[in-house]
Amino acid sequence: MELKDKVCIVTGAASGIGLAIAKRYAAAGGKIAIADLKIEAAQAAADGINADHPGQAIAVAMDVTQEDQVNAGVQQVVDAWGTVDVLVSNAGIQIVNPVEQFAFADWKKMLAIHLDGAFLTSKAVLPHMYKQGSGTVLFMGSVHSKEASPLKSAYVTAKHGLLGLSRVIAKEGGPKGVRTNVICPGFVRTPLVDKQIPEQAKELGISEEDVIKKVMLGQTVDGEFTTVDDIAEVALFLAAFPTNALTGQSLVASHGWYMN
Ligand code: NAD
Repeated sequence: MELKDKVCIVTGAASGIGLAIAKRYAAAGGKIAIADLKIEAAQAAADGINADHPGQAIAVAMDVTQEDQVNAGVQQVVDAWGTVDVLVSNAGIQIVNPVEQFAFADWKKMLAIHLDGAFLTSKAVLPHMYKQGSGTVLFMGSVHSKEASPLKSAYVTAKHGLLGLSRVIAKEGGPKGVRTNVICPGFVRTPLVDKQIPEQAKELGISEEDVIKKVMLGQTVDGEFTTVDDIAEVALFLAAFPTNALTGQSLVASHGWYMN
């Protein structure tokens, strides 16, 4: 699969899954904008990619919940490379708590990052894709786009919501050559997951080892974490797929935790 000279924006690409996607896309020939809240980490990621693939990465400061920052960031990419071919709306955080203890401010923050972020970045890139008659929008969903877990009300709600937004964009964008799909990973060992292990152990009254073995991996077929590289391969496949046959879909990569 190739992304030769395709202009790709990956949000939340200074770390974890987004960073792995950015590296994989660069290796496939793409030009990558690392869009992240943490501009120093984004610049370090871009420098790392440019060391292997000169001129193929730039860092873009962007809080995906702020419309002006999203629009300015997308414009920066268009000014540098002329258009946008691929958006991976990946930036995300996790906050765990039972519903009755979930602070309303935390609920709103979660929905803003996951849903406002997907909406605003899509809204900003779609005119460029429509103008050229092609493009791909990918959302980072989760097994939690399909399944629920205790303590994750806002996350599960937001990740389910992404399926709806993706399907609408698939229908609106299809006639204009734009495809959209949702990637649904199982647990991947990133800073987002590492933070949850002690939090869930405390909340559920079990050991950290049991959080990993029973809560996170208990329903997989082999007790294995999904890896950032697994998800980067899925993201490449979906971005480089050549026709509208594959649009409005969601692809689960979770070691069989969730089977469609
Ligand atoms: P991570 O914490 O390693 O990386 C998240 C990145 O998003 C960070 O670089 C952070 O700075 C950035 N970010 C956070 N808020 C932002 C904002 N408002 N604007 C711009 N950037 C922002 O996390 P990760 O595990 O790589 O998660 C990436 C995505 O994958 C998230 O959407 C997450 O929900 C999803 N996901 C993760 C897992 C997993 O097990 N790790 C599983 C399924 C889905």
